[in-house]
Amino acid sequence: MWIDTHCHLDASEFDADREHVATAARGAGVGRIVIPAIGRQNFATVRELAHRFEGGAYALGIHPLFTPSAQDGDLELLRAEIEASLDDPRFVGIGEIGLDYFIDGLDDARQQFFYNGQLEIAREFDLPVICHVRKSQDQVIKGLRRHQIHRGIAHAFNGSFQQAQAYIDQGMHLGFGGNLTFERARQIRRLAEQLPFDALVVETDAPDIPPSWIYKQRNSPEQIPGIGAGLAQLRGMAVDETALGTTANALAALPRLALSSA
Ligand SMILES: [Zn+2]
Repeated sequence: MWIDTHCHLDASEFDADREHVATAARGAGVGRIVIPAIGRQNFATVRELAHRFEGGAYALGIHPLFTPSAQDGDLELLRAEIEASLDDPRFVGIGEIGLDYFIDGLDDARQQFFYNGQLEIAREFDLPVICHVRKSQDQVIKGLRRHQIHRGIAHAFNGSFQQAQAYIDQGMHLGFGGNLTFERARQIRRLAEQLPFDALVVETDAPDIPPSWIYKQRNSPEQIPGIGAGLAQLRGMAVDETALGTTANALAALPRLALSSA
């Protein structure tokens, strides 16, 4: 069994065939799909989707790219939604949160306000975080340190070995997806090949970041075994061993995944 630790199954790209996409993933051996939220506008949707499909799971959070439309009160709403979700075995953590210094025009103080506010909530409820880390490796880990967060995933990780080690030392896992299937993605492939295996989880970020064999097409969670096979090849591991290992790693990163069955 594989786990897709990051899939935006609620995205409009899946409106026409969401049921089919979830069934195909399951048929391909993807037993769990983690659906992170992006803001108050999709909290109910990701929860509903996680319950609609076998193996579904969800996280609640305010994504850095959606902070321009978020209001201060959304933090209090998120806190209440999280408190109400603690009894829900399909709820696995806080996400997608983080900082993005790649996209122009985002207000840094606004991003920081929501990121830090959500880290406080993670600390309060002792929940793991799923982090968006784009050109913000040092700033995101600074927040994790300050709020003493020791569990979660730095999703679509793309940094230096030194930065990767800092996340691992903090107790975080690193998410790898379609990028590792491109020969030209040398740094990501080096990281996936050489970092301690225990630190790695696989993800699609579907509908984004398609692997090489569906370049520029819609990505979907059924691609996880292919991405996992790419990881296995880089590491010189058997594919089965890679599936078992990354599944165990995902459970370590998001322990509440063990509360509901696949
Ligand atoms: Zn995402």
